[in-house]
Amino acid sequence: MQERPLGDPMARVARSRHEFGEHGGVNLSIETSATFTVMEAGKMPAIFEGREGPGGGCFLYGRHFNPTVMVLARHLAALEATESAYCTASGMAAISGSLLHACSHGDHIVAGQALYGGTWALLHDFLPRKAGIETTFVDLSDLASVEAAFSARTRVLYCETVSNPTLRVANLPALADIAHRHGALLIVDNTFAPLSISPSRHGADVVIHSLTKFINGASDIVAGCVCASGAFIDGMYDLHLGSLMLLGPTMDPRSAYEVATRFPNLGLRMQEHARRASSCAERLTALGAAVIYPGLPSHPDYVLHRELANAGYGAGGLLAVDLGSAERANRFMEHLQNIEDFGYMAVSLGFSDTLMSASASSTSSELDELALTRAGISPGLVRLSIGYTGLLEDRLEQLERGWRAATG
Ligand SMILES: *Cc1c(COP(=O)(O)O)cnc(C)c1O
Repeated sequence: MQERPLGDPMARVARSRHEFGEHGGVNLSIETSATFTVMEAGKMPAIFEGREGPGGGCFLYGRHFNPTVMVLARHLAALEATESAYCTASGMAAISGSLLHACSHGDHIVAGQALYGGTWALLHDFLPRKAGIETTFVDLSDLASVEAAFSARTRVLYCETVSNPTLRVANLPALADIAHRHGALLIVDNTFAPLSISPSRHGADVVIHSLTKFINGASDIVAGCVCASGAFIDGMYDLHLGSLMLLGPTMDPRSAYEVATRFPNLGLRMQEHARRASSCAERLTALGAAVIYPGLPSHPDYVLHRELANAGYGAGGLLAVDLGSAERANRFMEHLQNIEDFGYMAVSLGFSDTLMSASASSTSSELDELALTRAGISPGLVRLSIGYTGLLEDRLEQLERGWRAATG
């Protein structure tokens, strides 16, 4: 990779302290132990009371600290330019843990209306009923309505950097300004935009990833993380009130090792995902398709994306195309999978091969009819996570044949 400036996230990751393996190996070791010895009996209460951490030489117990998991967390903090980070067993655990840490019973959240389906259900159904935490959903591009949704009990403004599946880009500096004026935190799910956008540099207080997607990149591990200040992270594993400590969605050290070994090639992968997604978006546009891709000048947030994006990583690996009806959308995907071997009909994203899904009937099916319309998710909308296998020229021809078969 070419030389990158200081502000580059992969450069920050490369500068975060390398961890040698137990025997001086170039890869880190996997510490599988669930419990750790102390050398002096007096240390035990000090660790439990939080006066001593793993820096004092004892990791205590696997739900508190694990050295392998902590190496991955350090890389993730470097990636997102935050003071600290914590790894979780899934992206949803990172989201629910962060929100339950930031909010108490009776508190209020303002959230974008175009969200990952699981997050939408957590905010719309689970949190109000189980924890007395209400959410007002707003159109994030209408800053006046975002502001108007705040109340004295609002603790969090929640959004996705690039929304699922409509790929709207959040105006992070403006949203951070609104949140901070109201004494609330801006919590951002950056799953769709690792490397291309660094939310903490635009005012976000907490940055969340589903590592299941681009960051692990192999679709073989479910994992997540929270990147935030030291105080926010420490609070999440407080012995009495820590949402992650007490709900317990701990990352397995074997998963942490796998994700950590794939971290160094994240930059290369993201560049190639974006290069190919951009070519696919252009090819479909040339065929007259209604394409949604933040790197196209026709996208409503084209300029905003350019303003927020880190140099060199393009406009992301995802695009969406509206086929006009669910039937055409299905024909498009079936042709591309079963005739062309272009990709797979599967949910999720960030895999080496292309993954395709019709959002309204899959990853956004938690949303009701009205919420789907508000979020701009029509029945014919197909989301594609563009992979990097095969020759790009072949892929573009397959894509074109798929489009013609579905619309002809
Ligand atoms: C997949 C996804 C999640 C949930 O992550 P899991 O690892 O499946 O729990 C949250 N947000 C977005 C944007 C996602 O794509």
